[in-house]
Amino acid sequence: MRYDLHCHSTRSDGLLTPSEVVRRAAERGVEVLALTDHDEVAGLPEARAAAHEAGVQLVEGAELSVTWRDTTVHIVALGIDPENSLLAAGLANVRTSRDSRARRIGESLAASGIPDALEGALEYVTSERLISRTHFARHLIDAGHARDMKEVFRRFLTAGKPGYVPHTWAALSDALQWIHGAGGQAVIAHPGRYKLGKAELRALINEFSDLGGDALEVVSPSHTPAQYAEFAAVARAFGLKVSCGSDFHAPGESRLDVGNLPPLPAGADPVWSAW
Ligand code: AMP
Ligand code: MN
Ligand code: MN
Ligand code: MN
Repeated sequence: MRYDLHCHSTRSDGLLTPSEVVRRAAERGVEVLALTDHDEVAGLPEARAAAHEAGVQLVEGAELSVTWRDTTVHIVALGIDPENSLLAAGLANVRTSRDSRARRIGESLAASGIPDALEGALEYVTSERLISRTHFARHLIDAGHARDMKEVFRRFLTAGKPGYVPHTWAALSDALQWIHGAGGQAVIAHPGRYKLGKAELRALINEFSDLGGDALEVVSPSHTPAQYAEFAAVARAFGLKVSCGSDFHAPGESRLDVGNLPPLPAGADPVWSAW
């Protein structure tokens, strides 16, 4: 079976609608797809209908924004009941907090001589329920402040740069409670991407594991092939399963297209082994 367990739609910061993402995945040979919009489950009903049409198995997912020791960490939820009220309320709070963060991002950019960035970013927002840094990034590129996604995040929107504002997301323990309470599995997304030292990353994984976390995302465009093996070994050491996902957002913009995933390292215990 071909699995892709991490991607985005217009319900967060992707450029394809949920049905378009599902159809694109099906055309590219994906058999099991998780739609994992940031802090959002509203795209799942449409994705489910499209998956039924296209003969794809849909895994109901989301990618939760979490703050762990002042670092933003993403937790992919898989197999959740999107109607679970505790999960829905938690995600709604996180989405609301994005609005005040977006205003502060706009103020920070204005202070660096880039006025009206919030208004600009709002032109790129595709769901009134959610604004992300990606929408600011697309606006800044089209306004000529950077050439591409890589450059815009290098020059803006990241720690120490104009448009970066600290923000407190959900607590790790809360995110895991919401996910498990909704019947899902919790996966640390792209563990190789966080600005954490080796010991701190281990501490994160240890705490995640103690809280009942289920898996590490091992195959990801944020990782090198050497990191696939490294994180598969870490997962084994902590008794965690492994996952894989393209983190697809848009054709031509994302490093990996949906479904375009190398295989899991040999011997790894996949998150779907119990499905
Ligand atoms: P937010 O959740 O609003 O902080 O936005 C995070 C999103 O910004 C990620 O999910 C990516 O889509 C995008 N992003 C962050 N850093 C980068 C980067 N270096 N290159 C491309 N996209 C990025
Ligand atoms: Mn994103
Ligand atoms: Mn992420
Ligand atoms: Mn993602």
